Amino acid sequence: MSSSEQDQTDKQKYEFRKVIEDLKEYEGSGTQLVTIYIPEDRQISSVVEHVTQEHSEASNIKSKQTRTAVQDALTSIKDRLRYYDVYPPENGMVVFSGAIDTGGGRTDMITKVLESPPQPIESFRYHCDSEFLTEPLAEMLGDKGLFGLIVLDRREANVGWLKGKRVEPVKSASSMVPGKQRKGGQSQARFERLRKEAIDNFYQEVAEMADDLFVEQRHELDGILVGGPSPTKEEFLDGGYLHHEIQDNVLGKFDVSYTDESGLYDLVDNAQEVLGEYEVMQDKTEMEEFFEELHDGDLATYGFGPTRENLIMGAVDRLLISEDMRKDVVTYECPNGHEEREVIDRREATPDHECSRCGEVVEVEDEEEAREDLIDHLMNIAEQRGTETKFISTDFEKGEQLLNAFGGVAGILRYDTGV
Ligand SMILES: [Zn+2]
Repeated sequence: MSSSEQDQTDKQKYEFRKVIEDLKEYEGSGTQLVTIYIPEDRQISSVVEHVTQEHSEASNIKSKQTRTAVQDALTSIKDRLRYYDVYPPENGMVVFSGAIDTGGGRTDMITKVLESPPQPIESFRYHCDSEFLTEPLAEMLGDKGLFGLIVLDRREANVGWLKGKRVEPVKSASSMVPGKQRKGGQSQARFERLRKEAIDNFYQEVAEMADDLFVEQRHELDGILVGGPSPTKEEFLDGGYLHHEIQDNVLGKFDVSYTDESGLYDLVDNAQEVLGEYEVMQDKTEMEEFFEELHDGDLATYGFGPTRENLIMGAVDRLLISEDMRKDVVTYECPNGHEEREVIDRREATPDHECSRCGEVVEVEDEEEAREDLIDHLMNIAEQRGTETKFISTDFEKGEQLLNAFGGVAGILRYDTGV
């Protein structure tokens, strides 16, 4: 994946995350918020059919208020589905609709469609509850990474992918390795030799299967996990069966009880610690570099103002943004033509601003225009200047510091600008 594609998905993921956070806050007064997950191969017409069916079943709902709310939501969903052709966009889409509590006994009807999530939606889901169903989407965004999975014993092997949190079994093989019991009339030595040969052949077959799958994508691969009983996985790994580039990518070996498809899931469960470490490892490296520059170098910048200025100059190599930062930036233009900005909390009302240069107090007229999500604001500049954006987790100390001590924004510079 090129770095601009990576930026694109990071940005897209951020957009999704924002929408999910908003949706999570909503609550219906009854079981009246509808969520529909639609896979890309599901015909829109069949979704409409399903919604029509639900609409007529909703007439049985006892509470008049809930009944009306559910039916309104379903009607709104049907209206939205009209904009689509035969199939949903790539990877499918999710539709949210319902009357949400806005306080004081009042409700507000909202309908939102999220198209093309970062991973394909696996199955059709209709969900009606007092909350929107956001977990499956959140899971897609939660984890980074592409890992190759291999589980094997002497009789059976399975290979597959771990994409984010999702396990994807791909291929399996089974062996002709005879049991430990030799048949009558066969010499012990000959039996042992044949058995060893059969095992060797099987390991080769498994390695070929893994190489076929993983070698082509070795540049996107974050690592390989190998599972199985002992000493099978050790024999396999120590025997040099795997392509050397794949072998170098092995992150660890783990005991699993099964080597069928379910073994792949066991493997991921048992590797949680390694995977968790891995996930923040890249973020840790970025932050280490930032702190080194901060203490002993000239290439660190932080805080909204200086980072933005450096970004505009094209001097930022990597923009570091805390994953948990939720801020907006407001742009004020005073009557004397001075442009200034304020960073505020996302939930905060837009304040008036006193111009630092002439003292005029500026009121925002058009909020839509003056107020922008801080991350969007910075990422747009970064994109224009060819700066890579990295989202940094808060699951480790220096990541937390980025959020709390540096305003959630920092950068590693290409050259010292003196800003
Ligand atoms: Zn001014």
